[in-house]
Amino acid sequence: MTDAPKFSSVAEFFAQALAIEVEASERYEALAEQMEVHNNARVATIFRKMAAIEAEHRKEIARRAGDALVGGRPASFSWTGPDGPEAIDFSDVHYLMTPRQALMLARHNEERATRYFEAIAETAEDPEIAAFARTMADDERQHVVWVDRWLEKFEADDPDWDADPDPPVLSD
Ligand code: ZN
Repeated sequence: MTDAPKFSSVAEFFAQALAIEVEASERYEALAEQMEVHNNARVATIFRKMAAIEAEHRKEIARRAGDALVGGRPASFSWTGPDGPEAIDFSDVHYLMTPRQALMLARHNEERATRYFEAIAETAEDPEIAAFARTMADDERQHVVWVDRWLEKFEADDPDWDADPDPPVLSD
C-alpha cells in the first residue's frame, strides 16, 4: 500500500472499514459458490469459513463503532480504488484449485488488509482513527495466523493438481 487513504471523520473511517468487510465476505461467498459449481467441495468449505470470519468481523466493527456510525450502516463510502483491500482477484482462481492454493490466496488477501490498516494507523492525524485502524490491523493479522494454522493441515500439492480426468466441455 503506497499511500494511505485520508478520512475526514471517525464515522467515515468506520463506514469504510465496514464496507471493506462486506466486500471481503461477499467475495469469499462468491468464490465458495464458484467452487461448488465445479464440485470442488473441499475448497468451497474453506471459502465459506473465510466468509463467515469476515461476516463476524463486520458485526464486531459495527459493535465497536456504536454511535460513531451514523444510521448503523455504511451510508457513504469513498474508496479510490476499484476494490477494497480485502477483495480477491477472480482471475487468480482455478476451478481445480487445491485447499492449499485457496488458503494461500486468502492469506495474500488478509495480509494486504493488514498492511492497508497499518498504513492508516501510521498516518492518520485523528488519534481515534489511528487507534481503530491499529485494532483492525491486529484483527487482520489474526486472520493470517488462522489461515497459517489451516495451511499446516494440508500437505504439499500434487504436481498434477490441475490435471482434470473429466474436463469441462468447451463449446466454440
Ligand atoms: Zn480478514
